[in-house]
Amino acid sequence: MSENMIGGTPYNCAMCGMPSGNEICYDCRTTKRWPPDSQSDTCNVICPWCEAAYQAEARDFDEDERVEECFKCGKAYILYDEMEIIHHTRPVGVKQNK
Ligand SMILES: [Zn+2]
Ligand SMILES: [Zn+2]
Repeated sequence: MSENMIGGTPYNCAMCGMPSGNEICYDCRTTKRWPPDSQSDTCNVICPWCEAAYQAEARDFDEDERVEECFKCGKAYILYDEMEIIHHTRPVGVKQNK
């Protein structure tokens, strides 16, 4: 209960953004996992903080790490895209069986 009063430090909880005496508020420390896991998905970019997801645009793919802000919770996370390139071949002049 007195958790949020300690020292009056103007911390906001890093997980829920609520004013808190600590980096992580008491609620989040007891009810949510901490630290957040990293996330990876084949078609969505998932915020590691709040798990909000958005569909990645192919044109935005970049294998270099960069910092993005979550559209939902506004917290920063590091994002890089792993491109899986598959080289397909088939012989010329042969009808493909389907
Ligand atoms: Zn919190
Ligand atoms: Zn988020």
